[in-house]
Amino acid sequence: MIIDGKQAAADLRKTLTLQVAQLKKDKGTVPGLTVVLVGEDPASEVYVRNKIKQTRDVGMISNEIKLPHDTSQIQLLAELQQLNSDDAVHGILVQLPLPNHIDESVIIAAIAPHKDVDGFHAMNSGRLLNGEPGALVPCTPQGCIILAKQHLGEDLSGLHAVVIGRSNIVGKPVALLLLQENCTVTIAHSRTKNLAGICQQADILIAAVGRANFVQASWVKPGATVIDVGINHIENESGKAKLVGDVDFANVAPVCGAITPVPGGVGPMTIACLLKNTLIAASTNG
Ligand code: NDP
Repeated sequence: MIIDGKQAAADLRKTLTLQVAQLKKDKGTVPGLTVVLVGEDPASEVYVRNKIKQTRDVGMISNEIKLPHDTSQIQLLAELQQLNSDDAVHGILVQLPLPNHIDESVIIAAIAPHKDVDGFHAMNSGRLLNGEPGALVPCTPQGCIILAKQHLGEDLSGLHAVVIGRSNIVGKPVALLLLQENCTVTIAHSRTKNLAGICQQADILIAAVGRANFVQASWVKPGATVIDVGINHIENESGKAKLVGDVDFANVAPVCGAITPVPGGVGPMTIACLLKNTLIAASTNG
């Protein structure tokens, strides 16, 4: 089975559209998301355009603040301070990566935790770690869980999940979410010994590595659910640019029980979950 992330994201946006309308009716609050983009990175500009369009499509207010590449860290912090105190702004997202002269960790720490719809602020990661309610959870990991449940149903209890990758934005939070779902969780990384053998034990295999076609068919337990987070740009045989995941899709698909494609898997879920976080932020603090 191929897990259709585009469809799952469209379904989630449909639900969110209804919830946004209900929030407006009940409380007069229209969720507002502001995206801050520093510099002219073409890939970031595409992401931001998509985010703005989808935010408006579900009935939320979307604003973009575009700042030049040479914006100083102090100027960016001042911008964030203003957004933090603006009641019409429920969600703030600073598009990463930032130019090298700006320290990302300082910027993330400066976003008010209740407006941190990316879920990267230490307050939100801490709440997720402690299993406390009220955390804004990173979007891509949320998307991974929703897609795994498309195939496995709501109850993931007792399943062995192997996550390859331990970044703060994907690997660690997705492992914590799987733990909350009562999975037995193994986190693998570049120093892991016998990676193939560990992956072979996975009922749920999540690849967040950033290496094209890295996960081989022989690593995958027959019937496993495979969630491919990777986004890798490669050239195909005729020299044309092509997007592939971290999993060798063509050879893994016949072995596993279900798999997310790249593109059209986790990617679309990330923006849909960003909108979900914005709605949560607006419902809690609107
Ligand atoms: P990072 O580079 O931050 O992390 C990669 C992880 O993979 C690290 O923990 C690293 O281990 C591990 N790794 C690298 N090489 C190996 C190896 N040979 N064996 C085992 N583990 C290895 O990447 P991100 O987590 O930010 O992103 C991962 C992928 O997901 C990328 O392709 C990215 O583009 C994509 N992505 C997709 C999103 C989406 O919306 N679909 C959103 C975010 C990311 P170590 O820690 O030891 O170095």
